[in-house]
Amino acid sequence: MQLGDQQASGNVEDRRGIGVGGGLGIGGIAVAIVAYFLGFDPGTAINVAQQVTTQGETRVAPKGAPADEQGQFVSKVLGSTEAVWGKIFQQANAQYRPPTLVLFEGQVRSACGAAQSAMGPFYCPNDEKLYIDLSFFRDLQTRFRAPGDFAQAYVIAHEVGHHVQKLTGNIKSNSNQQSVRVELQADCYAGVWGHHAGAMKQLDAGDVAEALNAASAIGDDRIQKQTQGRVTPDSFTHGSSDQRVRWFKRGMDSGRPKDCDTNAG
Ligand SMILES: [Zn+2]
Repeated sequence: MQLGDQQASGNVEDRRGIGVGGGLGIGGIAVAIVAYFLGFDPGTAINVAQQVTTQGETRVAPKGAPADEQGQFVSKVLGSTEAVWGKIFQQANAQYRPPTLVLFEGQVRSACGAAQSAMGPFYCPNDEKLYIDLSFFRDLQTRFRAPGDFAQAYVIAHEVGHHVQKLTGNIKSNSNQQSVRVELQADCYAGVWGHHAGAMKQLDAGDVAEALNAASAIGDDRIQKQTQGRVTPDSFTHGSSDQRVRWFKRGMDSGRPKDCDTNAG
């Protein structure tokens, strides 16, 4: 990808190294120290402080584009999706409300419940945040053999696609079948972003192939084969490799969200 001219989004919450509860905030440490001097068991105080900081969400994760290379990459991809969807919404006389991207390590607490990085990146409609553990990008490269920066960008753009579904009232997933349609539409929306990123000269030759390879690699059938040695279509939640490739391509070719109606086929 060519993201040199792309402005990094400030809508990134960096919770890497902070832990689930956010660890001890400054208030928590103060409570622990006070407890220590008053002769309480500091262990108990730390416990209480942690509960307080967790429930009250008082701990602060830095917000803004992280300075490290991967953090910058993620922020720029997010910035690119904001530019593209901002324009698309504007053309429809609507306003795009950008989501927040949360970087975490290991486990995270979201408004949709607690999550572990093994579950993969996800979007929580309740807090309008995308949750990504960067270790998934390593898995993408090694375990799923889908290397490349655009493969990673596709994953972010897919989660942004779920946010677009939320904004347009299109996110409902009660059954597996319904969920497949929602997932394929998010793939198509990722393609829509890719189309416009291409128009903004952000793509290299071979980038689209990277994304198609990734879409194919993380299709449910492929993942199931890898993890359980067989394919059980009833439990598909994201769609098969072929379906994911097809819908990503459709969005990529057209650049128009209205061509992403997975209900119409
Ligand atoms: Zn999804």
